Amino acid sequence: MVPARDIAVLGATGSIGGSALDVIARHPGRLRVALLAAGRNVDALLALCRQHRPRHAVIADEAGFPALRDGLREAGLDTRAHTGEALDALVAGDACDTVVAAIVGAAGLPSTLAAARAGKRLLLANKESLVLAGELLMAAAREGGATIVPIDSEHNAIFQCLPDAHARAGLRRLVLTASGGPFRGRSRASLADVTPAQAIAHPKWSMGPKISVDSATLMNKGLEVIEAHHLFAVPGDRIDVLVHPQSLVHSLVEFVDGSTLAQLGLPDMRTALAVGLAWPERIVSGVAGLDLLAEGGRLEFEPPDLDAFPCLQLAFDALAAGGTAPAVLNAANEVAVSAFLQGELGFLSIPRLIEDTMSALPAAPAGTLEALSDADAGARRHASAAIAGFA
Ligand code: NDP
Ligand code: MG
Repeated sequence: MVPARDIAVLGATGSIGGSALDVIARHPGRLRVALLAAGRNVDALLALCRQHRPRHAVIADEAGFPALRDGLREAGLDTRAHTGEALDALVAGDACDTVVAAIVGAAGLPSTLAAARAGKRLLLANKESLVLAGELLMAAAREGGATIVPIDSEHNAIFQCLPDAHARAGLRRLVLTASGGPFRGRSRASLADVTPAQAIAHPKWSMGPKISVDSATLMNKGLEVIEAHHLFAVPGDRIDVLVHPQSLVHSLVEFVDGSTLAQLGLPDMRTALAVGLAWPERIVSGVAGLDLLAEGGRLEFEPPDLDAFPCLQLAFDALAAGGTAPAVLNAANEVAVSAFLQGELGFLSIPRLIEDTMSALPAAPAGTLEALSDADAGARRHASAAIAGFA
């Protein structure tokens, strides 16, 4: 039986947060919601508090605090309301032993680091924190004694194939699979006028808007290459990407003896979250088993098109450059995606803006959190100012 866990769900009102709460609710008594945190959506957070009755609720946006506090009181709950300032201490404290890190973007780094330092079981969905500060985050987890279970489906698949150092000793190569996103097969020229609504209409996965755009540009796969490098200590030249439109094989691991292991399943994040909550045990997640015939009886693979989707190459370049380069890549991408979603930047200008920011802020050493935060802030400033020139 899975041990009892007190769980903090950060990014509770989002796509991953909702999937995590769905799995947790299937195991009452054993899996308990201790803390829920959201950005600004107070109504959704209150609804989740009524349903899951956590001890703590955190709203990052200070303006939402009075509504959260009053709403909890009116609902007769003894959940304590907090602003975002309290989040890192709550995550590190006794209220929880398990943390689902599912805030979107670099905003998730401080709480993810706090969970790692405090030695929690860390279900890591927030890939941007690894891209921005992978070395520091992995070192914090080692020093704090945290167990990181990757939630990103590809890395969760690799984790299942490579659960420990013993299994990792004979590793030759990682192969990350990619759905190819909504624009797979299209030429670069045909992508000039695509809209945000088209970009977030992912063919296989239901996800938040930022990662959906990242999937459409293939930056998501680029961020995942950097993520895999940190999680599994594999250099970029031993990480390959294969487009696999069925999204049933979630990644592959090749060993020196010629064996390749893969993990397969329906594209539903509840599987990865159940692995994270129960590992090394297996628990019901609500996801059906895989019927390959019902899914079309076909598994196809093709190389990524780096001409139509240059973001993937930019991420490989940032990983090779090292230092602050991945932090700059990530920050410029967050600015570019946000501008694209607001109709201020064309789809093809997303990689242009990122490339421009990377050339303006070349890689520098990145030994401290301060250096990385400065690089992140500098890249945001540069990219924001440059948007008008690319629109
Ligand atoms: P969503 O946009 O659906 O949700 C984002 C969540 O983060 C919301 O709960 C939002 O709150 C919260 N949030 C935003 N800013 C803050 C903040 N400053 N403090 C606290 N909470 C904040 O995103 P997803 O669930 O899709 O993605 C979450 C993370 O997981 C991303 O890093 C993504 O790359 C990763 N991931 C997601 C996958 C998926 O299938 N969705 C797959 C693999 C990885 P509010 O609603 O109040 O704004
Ligand atoms: Mg993924």
